Amino acid sequence: MQTRPMRSPTIEAWQWQVAASCRGMPSAFFFHPWGERGPERIERVRQAKDVCAGCPVIDECRRHALQAREMYGVWGGLSEDERLILLGLHRRHRTPGPDSTEPDGSGAGSVQPVDHVDELTKR
Ligand code: SF4
Repeated sequence: MQTRPMRSPTIEAWQWQVAASCRGMPSAFFFHPWGERGPERIERVRQAKDVCAGCPVIDECRRHALQAREMYGVWGGLSEDERLILLGLHRRHRTPGPDSTEPDGSGAGSVQPVDHVDELTKR
């Protein structure tokens, strides 16, 4: 059996992180602790977004988060829910499809891979 060497991430792919405004900040600033809800969560997300708003690599960060489908945290000035909505994956924003497999008709079975991340990240 022939094997191929594993691909390693290139430095260029992550170079943008060097200039990140959040570099060195505690991750708890951007990622919610277990069970965080309500006003505390809203305020933490707002503060994280304030940091992102002045970040010189916000576009690169947002593109990465959408392409990688980062599930948690604030990335590129977008919350978890905002990224799901942009990707068409948020439960409340799905349209039922003919192949929906969820009893509530939320269309889980019709979710398609997203191939338009560049379009989503244009500002
Ligand atoms: S956009 Fe926000 S999360 Fe992304 S690198 Fe900048 S400060 Fe960090």
